Amino acid sequence: MNFHVLTLFPDMVQNGLNTSITGRAIEKGLISVNTVNIRDFSDDKHKRVDDYPYGGGAGMVMQAEPIYKAYGYLANHIKMSKDDQTAYKKPRVVYVTPQGEIFNQSMAQELAAEEDLILLCGHYEGIDERVLEMIVSDYVSIGDYVLTGGELPAMVMIDCISRLIPGVLNNETSSEFESLQDNLLEYPQYTRPEVFMGRKVPEVLLSGHHANIEAWRRQESIIRTYERRPDLLEQAELTEEEREFLTR
Ligand code: SAM
Repeated sequence: MNFHVLTLFPDMVQNGLNTSITGRAIEKGLISVNTVNIRDFSDDKHKRVDDYPYGGGAGMVMQAEPIYKAYGYLANHIKMSKDDQTAYKKPRVVYVTPQGEIFNQSMAQELAAEEDLILLCGHYEGIDERVLEMIVSDYVSIGDYVLTGGELPAMVMIDCISRLIPGVLNNETSSEFESLQDNLLEYPQYTRPEVFMGRKVPEVLLSGHHANIEAWRRQESIIRTYERRPDLLEQAELTEEEREFLTR
């Protein structure tokens, strides 16, 4: 999958993703992260990309033109990179913004099916609305708080989506059951040693009895979700027995 990031801080995005699991995925060619510096598309002699907001108010607003030009350059570059021009489909353009739909695991799963994804990062007070109307297909927030720029949200999305691309995780099954899959949090995990400062690993996990281990994990997962994220349980697929267990 190819991620394309329109940003004023390309190094931040590249350096952040060039390490660990995403770094290896880039090296193996499973994902690519292409950054386009919006500043390169400013006609201003000082390469300015922001200006005062019409109507007054605090802060600066990113201008429409450099973003529109950077997008045009990128869209053309993506199109030209395809062998089959007739099969070319315009990539989705996500503007990361606190005003968007909250990013979650199912959105990540949906976006992981795209071949190319463009992420637009804002800065300062945001972006001139007109260019957003012209190029953006999706508005996505990573949570109900305000950050200084869209680079971290774009990196969060790229990290999360990449884990869902086959081959990115070493063990293919390691994203099979984990938190938020099926609206349940993951069960507690343990590794060696068997006893740590007097705390023992639950006996069932040492039993080698797969059915019992599965049953224990399912139960722990439900309990943990009930305790920490009861809001998720409404959407979770639980058996009658499991729902009854929670009311006890
Ligand atoms: N004035 C804007 C508002 O109230 O919506 C906030 C601008 S914020 C300081 C600057 C940029 O950071 C935004 O354009 C956006 O790209 C990014 N950003 C900040 N918080 C975010 C969040 N929770 N999710 C996604 N992007 C965010």
